[in-house]
Amino acid sequence: GSLPGWEQVEAHVVDAHERYLPRTEGAVADYIPALAAADPDLFGISVAEVSGSVHAVGAADTAFSIQSISKAFVYALVSDALGHDVVRERVGVNNTGLSFNSVIAIELNDGHPMNPMVNAGALATTALVPGATPAEQWERIRAGLSRFAGRQLELDGEVYHSEMLTNQRNKAIARLLESYGRIDLDPLDVVDTYTRQCSLNVTARDIAVMGATLADGGVNPVTGERVVSPQVCRDTLSVLAATGMYERSGEWLFEIGLPAKSGVSGGIVAVAPGKGAIGTFSPRLDSAGNSVRGQHATAYLSRTLGLNVFASA
Ligand code: GLN
Repeated sequence: GSLPGWEQVEAHVVDAHERYLPRTEGAVADYIPALAAADPDLFGISVAEVSGSVHAVGAADTAFSIQSISKAFVYALVSDALGHDVVRERVGVNNTGLSFNSVIAIELNDGHPMNPMVNAGALATTALVPGATPAEQWERIRAGLSRFAGRQLELDGEVYHSEMLTNQRNKAIARLLESYGRIDLDPLDVVDTYTRQCSLNVTARDIAVMGATLADGGVNPVTGERVVSPQVCRDTLSVLAATGMYERSGEWLFEIGLPAKSGVSGGIVAVAPGKGAIGTFSPRLDSAGNSVRGQHATAYLSRTLGLNVFASA
């Protein structure tokens, strides 16, 4: 099936916002000091259809740093550049069952980063971005994520600097991967590039369009530009299904039935292949680092719009 008509989708998006706005459980991430300053009451929802229609309700145009949602799109760009087998071997596709910044997951798996949606695998993925220098790699990431969004994305300098002062753990993960021969570049350069990619500002509308590009076989449905191949979209969405919501990925798939990626600033993008994507933003997180309102709103929309990929009707 396809999405219901524009009016119906719009009504469900408005409903989802109204229903879950009163929910105030969870807490804003504060391990990156600049994120602690986020307004916890912000709540935006956007749905982008593969037709190019975009719905946006509440704080859908409020900027926030993309954080871990960048991992999905950098992975797609690297897969597009290097191919399925290289990234599968170098980075992996299995869930760790552990938190996103786990060191234990690396140790338990002979130094293998396990998958591109946790920090270890994301660092290993960023290290594979083509480019002769870190500056070239960063420009390639920024340009690539901007093509997914259909507009020029900018760095949030305050978030970047704040995280660079407090990301000792990511530096340790990068060094550990280096010790296992899993990062060939200077690991601290890779952490710098990774931290920049996480500090790109987006909105709920942007992540919905980015997700809809994956839903649309790699063509941005708003700009019409091809960003990645259909094969890369399949690879990326299967990795998101297995690992996009960290150690809660199984529960998420069981309840909501959509490949998705969350980030600690409060964004979630969920992708319905061939149909479109849902982008939500609300900074209060649960203990795994997933936005509480975002999970409720996405579950509601998956149900009311009939998006669960495992449903036969
Ligand atoms: N930049 C953050 C970090 O590396 C991203 C984490 C996240 O969004 N889960 O810790």
